[in-house]
Amino acid sequence: MVMIDTISEKVQQAAALIKQSSYVVAFSGAGISTESGIPDFRSEKSGLWNRDDPMEVASLHGFRRNPKAFYDWVRPLARVTLDAEPNAAHYSLARLEELGFLKSVITQNIDMLHTRAGSSTVYELHGHMREGTCIGCYKKYDGQFVLDEILKHDNVPYCPACDAPIKPDVILFGEQLPYQAFNAAEREMRKADLMIVIGSSLEVAPAGDIPLHARRHGAKLIIVNLEPTPVDSLANVVLHAWAGETMEAIVEQLETLL
Ligand code: NAD
Repeated sequence: MVMIDTISEKVQQAAALIKQSSYVVAFSGAGISTESGIPDFRSEKSGLWNRDDPMEVASLHGFRRNPKAFYDWVRPLARVTLDAEPNAAHYSLARLEELGFLKSVITQNIDMLHTRAGSSTVYELHGHMREGTCIGCYKKYDGQFVLDEILKHDNVPYCPACDAPIKPDVILFGEQLPYQAFNAAEREMRKADLMIVIGSSLEVAPAGDIPLHARRHGAKLIIVNLEPTPVDSLANVVLHAWAGETMEAIVEQLETLL
C-alpha cells in the first residue's frame, strides 16, 4: 500500500515536471518493449544475454567470422519483433508529442515500435531493420529481402552482386553508431530541459551515457525502469515500475493539469 502511494506521488511529480518543461525528450531502451513481448538484454529472467555471449554473436567481428551463428541467434528476436505491437508506453510518448510536450524520442531499440505508435521524430541510435547492407560491396537492400531470407527460407542472406553476407542495418558491438542519428541525439540532449528515460539499464556506451550528459547540460531527469540505473541518484523522479502503466498514468495525470 505504501508502495502504491509512493508511486502515485511520483507519477504526480513526473506529470508536474513535464508540464513545467518546454523541451522534453524521451530516451528509451529495450525495457520499453518487453511488455510488447520483445525480450531485453539484461533483465534477470528474460534477458537475451543470459543465454548467449553477445560479444561473440552480436559483434561485427563475430558476424564477419560466422554470419550463420549471428542469424541463428537473431532469428527468434526478429520473429518476435516483427509480430510485436506497440504498448501503452510507446503510445503514451506519441500522446505526449501530440500534446506538444515531447519533441523527440532517442531510442536504442531496433524494433521500430515508436514510429508504429505514432511518434514522428525518432532517432534510432542502434539502427533498425528496414534495410540491410552487404558487408562486401556496401550495396543497400530492402529489409524485407533480408527478413524473408532469414525467416521464410532460414538462410543467411548473401549479396546477389558480390556474394558477401548482408547485415541488417542494426548496430553490432564494434560498430560506429549511425552518424546522423547520433548527432541529432546529441543536439536533442543539449536542447532538452527534461529527459524521460524509460526501460534502459544505461550500461551500453556511448548511447547509454546520453541521459547523464543531458543532466550535465541542465536537463531534469525522470527515470522509469524496473531496476535501479547508475543515474538514479541524479534524477528528479525515479519510478522503479512497469513502463506501460507508469507512462500511461503520467500522461493521464498531465492531462488533468491542462
Ligand atoms: P537492457 O536490456 O540493458 O536494459 C533494459 C532495462 O529495462 C533493465 O534495466 C530492466 O530492468 C528494464 N525493464 C525491462 N522491462 C521493463 C518494463 N516493462 N518496464 C520498465 N523497465 C523495464 O537494455 P538497453 O539499456 O536498451 O541496452 C541494451 C541494448 O539492447 C540496446 O543497445 C538495444 O539496442 C538492444 N536491444 C533492443 C531491443 C529492442 O529493439 N526491443 C531488444 C533487446 C535488445
